[in-house]
Amino acid sequence: MLVPFITVLSATAASYAGYATMAPRSQLYGRTLTHGDDPREFALTYDDGPNDPHTLRLLDVLARHQAKATFFLIGRYVRQRPEVARAIQAAGHEIGNHTYSHPNLIFVPARRLRQELEDCNKALEDALGMRVSLFRPPFGGRRPGVLRMARSLGLKTVMWSVAGNDWSAQSPEFILGKLAPGLNSRRGEVALLHDGGHLAFGADRAHTVEATRRLLETNPGRSFVSVSELARQAGSASMTRKN
Ligand SMILES: [Zn+2]
Repeated sequence: MLVPFITVLSATAASYAGYATMAPRSQLYGRTLTHGDDPREFALTYDDGPNDPHTLRLLDVLARHQAKATFFLIGRYVRQRPEVARAIQAAGHEIGNHTYSHPNLIFVPARRLRQELEDCNKALEDALGMRVSLFRPPFGGRRPGVLRMARSLGLKTVMWSVAGNDWSAQSPEFILGKLAPGLNSRRGEVALLHDGGHLAFGADRAHTVEATRRLLETNPGRSFVSVSELARQAGSASMTRKN
């Protein structure tokens, strides 16, 4: 266990680089959903919203192509903009818990961990009038206790299999380049993107919105589905049994 432990520590020290280096597909710390089976399907996921005005622009782009996506929302932003969270819901997209204040859960004690998940659940419930069933850990940071806690609160943990690296993107092309391998895959990939920023409300996600627009425009034959839909097609076992 020494090697992965060191990997996790150094990945966290690298902050944003942690997204790439925290081995999102690793099942070492417990089973999570990372991808589906059907190569015609592609699950776009957006973290760190709701966020003005980029979340709403993204909803327009997705609607124009009848694409469905999944949004992992930060609880404190939901408190700030519940109407944007409701707009995501009204457009038929899936919504998940991304904690209340976006800490790296590897380092928080059990009590705070529970609080982060419960507070976000509550913010979502107040805004949407329903409970959510999906959870994505900030930075992909997880350990057995995190997955256990999520499960005990009725949340399935969702990771990703391809990252758009939009947190460091200087252009939409950069993001599209990162997603490209996922479009030539023999299974249904889960793409990590961001419509907000965890450091502050109002992050500029214009590149992500534009990359999404081009991705949808240039892949008319592909089915852009929510995470639950992807899991349903793909031996939903990978979500229910393993998680
Ligand atoms: Zn995040």
